Amino acid sequence: MRYTPKEIETKWQKQWDDEQAFEPSDSLEQKKKYILSMFPFPSGRLHMGHVRNYAIGDAIARYYRKQDYNVLHPIGWDAFGMPAENAAIKHGRHPKEWTYSNIDYMRGELNALGLSFSKTREFATCDPLYTKWEQEFIIKMFEAGLLFRESTTVNWCPHDLTVLANEQLEEGCCWRCGTEVVQKEMPGYYLDITKYADELLEDLKMLEGKWPNQVLTMQENWIGKSQGLEFEFELSEESKAKLDGKFEKYSVFTTRPDTIYGVSYSALAAEHPITKYLVEHNLLDEERAEKITAIANMGERERAQADKEGYPLGISVIHPLTGEEVPVWTANFVLASYGGGAVMAVPAHDERDHEFATKYDLPIKRVISGGEELPYTGEGELIDSAAFTGLANYEAKAKVIATFEEAGFGKGTTNYKLRNWGVSRQRYWGAPIPFVHCNACGLVPEKIENLPIALPDDVEITGEGNPLDNHPTWKQCKCPKCGGDAVRETDTLDTFVQSSWYQFRYATNPKKWNEVGIDKDEANYWLGVDQYIGGIEHAILHLLYARFFTKVLRDLGYVDIDEPFNRLLTQGMVTMDGAKMSKSKGNTVDPDKLIEEYGADTARLFILFAAPPQKELEWNDNAVDGAFRFIKKLYDRADRVTSKTLPEIDHGALSKEAKLARQKVYEALQKSADVYEKTFAFNTLIAACMEAMNALDKQESGEVWSEGMYVMLNLLEPIIPHAATELSEVLFERENLKALLEVKEEVFVQESILYMVMIGGKKRAEFEINPGATQDEILAAAKAEGAKWLEGMQIVKEIVVPNKLVNLAVKPAS
Ligand SMILES: [Zn+2]
Ligand SMILES: [Zn+2]
Repeated sequence: MRYTPKEIETKWQKQWDDEQAFEPSDSLEQKKKYILSMFPFPSGRLHMGHVRNYAIGDAIARYYRKQDYNVLHPIGWDAFGMPAENAAIKHGRHPKEWTYSNIDYMRGELNALGLSFSKTREFATCDPLYTKWEQEFIIKMFEAGLLFRESTTVNWCPHDLTVLANEQLEEGCCWRCGTEVVQKEMPGYYLDITKYADELLEDLKMLEGKWPNQVLTMQENWIGKSQGLEFEFELSEESKAKLDGKFEKYSVFTTRPDTIYGVSYSALAAEHPITKYLVEHNLLDEERAEKITAIANMGERERAQADKEGYPLGISVIHPLTGEEVPVWTANFVLASYGGGAVMAVPAHDERDHEFATKYDLPIKRVISGGEELPYTGEGELIDSAAFTGLANYEAKAKVIATFEEAGFGKGTTNYKLRNWGVSRQRYWGAPIPFVHCNACGLVPEKIENLPIALPDDVEITGEGNPLDNHPTWKQCKCPKCGGDAVRETDTLDTFVQSSWYQFRYATNPKKWNEVGIDKDEANYWLGVDQYIGGIEHAILHLLYARFFTKVLRDLGYVDIDEPFNRLLTQGMVTMDGAKMSKSKGNTVDPDKLIEEYGADTARLFILFAAPPQKELEWNDNAVDGAFRFIKKLYDRADRVTSKTLPEIDHGALSKEAKLARQKVYEALQKSADVYEKTFAFNTLIAACMEAMNALDKQESGEVWSEGMYVMLNLLEPIIPHAATELSEVLFERENLKALLEVKEEVFVQESILYMVMIGGKKRAEFEINPGATQDEILAAAKAEGAKWLEGMQIVKEIVVPNKLVNLAVKPAS
């Protein structure tokens, strides 16, 4: 048969559409699999990373369909966000027009790849119907106290003119545009993710072995739980006076209460209220005040990378146990967002404190024994620590905390690095935050029946300020509570809010999309997602937010599940010449061109064959060619097939070559379940099929060819669906694609075993014997084969090593 990829790919794509072949059934009784690849941002064109992500997901989905699973394999568009607005600024296109036309184009590209997505469940997160339900969730979260508005210091991107969450900073720069982020005080909306910190951490245990360890570790570190002591440092009388009696004390948090006697200074963040007071009331000399202000304006990451820097504040506090005066400094490594922005410093047992103390010549007091040099951060016995001296430091921790609690000047606490999720963005192309500001009532949520609060189309997008704020009428509204004049909130939601619940939307039957955001029964049936596939770059942001949202939606009564994604596969990057493919580097391959030249099946086969999915995939034109040739070979050999069904074969009557070919075919089949269900090492399965093909080529039996093609097309259909379906149609009326096939064990049965014959310690002969032979038969055969060397000899010992050799010890016959 001649291989004509374009023709057959168009044919099958149309047929699948006509048959609605990939729509899940409405039944919630059937066994199910929810296979989800992370949805794309509609940037304009697919890139190779997308092709890889979707080829993996599609292969898994198609595999499970063959086993009568009800399979949900949906796709949609993560459609809000800055690039749409940037396109508007650059090319004068309306973000909505830009977004939806990109979606239309990219939908065509996905189609051309033959991906088995549900078509009825597709949506874009910028659809007003999606916004409607998201706004309802936001209002419910507000009512439950999980969303609040407050004024805080935020990360501000001066290029995109918007706030960024901590998760959206990369080394102190904007994750989108790379501009250095500045700190700015402004009001915004926050989701109380810290309330779920413990659960988010605990539930990582449920994902062990199912998510990559690297992702679990990254989330654990991001949540950053630490146990310790929180206590108050009282200011000295003199210091209180210096601060005009405005401050009495401040709170510090430490994870090392065992080192309390080693405190030799305390450090405050540059934004700490006391530091600010000293600066603003000119209580420090001008130069020092300027330097402190400069630190306050630096981003957290930037500060973490900078050299240790600090200044004495000219005040002191009283050590709660010794009563000694301890000097107070401000230091750039103390962050306002962690532990209240104040620390006790123990330079003998903390690297950072030590570096700082050494630089500024502050006292260093050892209180834990062990190690030659300071700082010493290991375990040891307490020294110079009053009543605690002699205790092991890990025991001392609890005792020091107890002492503080009994005395009433401190308590044991748990601290997290995780900060609340700031979801306000000062941009147009996002879901409006559904609140109004009323002079009489304050912040009021919109009435549910008025949702969605949709975006106005008639906006001017210039890159200056927030277009919603600048719109002449959009924000004028009536207060939902008192009916008076009010002003609509012009902030929109972070796009990560949309991707936090899309997995539930897909699970809801589209017939109900107007009535409900999430259908609870259907969500409970379909979720957790059985296999989620996406890039490692989402290890924290998206995957943490989606886990958090799932728990919140559970607590609000929308779903009953705890975790959204049961299993996660993070696919590696696609590289060329060792670097990630990117437009700016000019090392990209356009999937459209590849499909045009070779067809979708070649693209899919290459991408799944070139590397295991978890690893980087280096582009290789020759390997693309090789993939094409393999499919062509399947076509070439189609005419060797002589049977329209799976033939019954008399294995024993076959030639040695034909037997080996069958064995190779069934080795591939044996491997396949593990590949499709666990390891996703498609490359090994494809290699096994290629080996089977080579073995088939070395034999003549039409029946063996028929069986080989019957099985291989079944195995390869999830990977090269068009070619495999076409060949299966012509050769077997697609009977071979209806279910998983069974391994014929007979092909693995060994027919004879080779024995060596050792006589008098030397190898003298070999013989083959059937595997069922008895000990006596084996010995008889050995003696017959070795008769020549046994002449005139007497056997004194006979040893049979099963499946290997017979050893006959001899001496001359007397
Ligand atoms: Zn930016
Ligand atoms: Zn009002």
